[in-house]
Amino acid sequence: MNIYTEMSINGYEKVVRCDNIEIGFIAWIAIHNSCRGPALGGCRVWHYANEEEALTDVLRLSKGMTYKNSLAKLPLGGGKSVVHTDLKTINREALFEHIGLFVESLGGLYITAEDVNSTVEDMAIAKRKTSHVATVGSSGNPSPFTAYGVYCAIKAAVKHKLRKQSLDGLTVAIQGVGETGGRLARLLKKDNCRIIAADINEDNIKRLQKKIALTRVNEEQIYEMQCDVFSPCALGGTLNELTIPRLNCSIVAGSANNQLLKESDGDLLLRQNILYIPDYAANAGGVINISCELGQKYSQKKAMRLTAGIEQTVLEIIQQADKLLLPTNMVANKIAENLFKNVKLAA
Ligand code: NAD
Repeated sequence: MNIYTEMSINGYEKVVRCDNIEIGFIAWIAIHNSCRGPALGGCRVWHYANEEEALTDVLRLSKGMTYKNSLAKLPLGGGKSVVHTDLKTINREALFEHIGLFVESLGGLYITAEDVNSTVEDMAIAKRKTSHVATVGSSGNPSPFTAYGVYCAIKAAVKHKLRKQSLDGLTVAIQGVGETGGRLARLLKKDNCRIIAADINEDNIKRLQKKIALTRVNEEQIYEMQCDVFSPCALGGTLNELTIPRLNCSIVAGSANNQLLKESDGDLLLRQNILYIPDYAANAGGVINISCELGQKYSQKKAMRLTAGIEQTVLEIIQQADKLLLPTNMVANKIAENLFKNVKLAA
């Protein structure tokens, strides 16, 4: 049986904890802000060190979704769920049925989707108990849209920073060539870019090498490569006070979430004359695609058109940052805050 406990947390609209002793999990749903619409954010499953760590994660991630959905001007708020459990021992089907019940208990205020350690198949199980699930419908895998959005963000950055209308002949160093990084590499190659790539998974490099020519380096060398664009497409926190001084690029733009270890690392990049494209501006293509199946007939054409809008969003951030002499991450935060604090959406 799910036991729900509502928690009062400053700055968050609603945070609910769910305990289920029989199945063996604790989960939280955090709704950071729903001014723009129901809070959309994935369901992360992890064996955390303790409950406090899980709660911190759901709070941080749900806030991030408010900023991402707002900056993309979607009619969606920001939320997230995390499940603290041991995936090796749990009955997966029972888990996701109960996660469905948990989501349903919020009456549509929160819409869930797959995330780290939860799959489209898991979401289909959750959907037996609630209709408030995205990504099991017609929009499919979000990664091609995320990769395309990052490509559009790179185009904006190149126009502004390098004063070039085309990517022809540029060098891009990609950290992580999985679902998004690999697709990005292929898009860039079509524009005649030179690709340098690093991945801790040999198979992913080999798979990409079968499709395009690339220069392979190891995961430490990638930071120091002479390139036009450094593209973090692996894990978060890879831009920090140890790695930023090693960068040899003009632009940083990639798909990874939470690229900056600390907000102040945006300032470090600015002082090093590197144009940083805020991660949640560049990687919104996936969530834009998902939004195109909510309450409407999904259209891939529309999803691509809206994702292409990332180029304009990024240009606006860069131009404001230049004018105000502020780091781009701070400017993006301000723009996003205006979009969810002063919201006036059409009914
Ligand atoms: P993925 O797991 O398919 O690819 C990540 C790749 O990075 C893997 O090939 C992995 O081996 C590699 N990697 C991990 N650590 C590395 C390191 N230290 N150095 C080099 N390579 C390393 O994941 P993905 O779906 O491509 O997502 C990548 C990032 O983008 C994640 O941070 C994810 O949260 C974010 N993101 C993804 C989407 C999406 O639609 N998939 C949407 C928004 C944000």
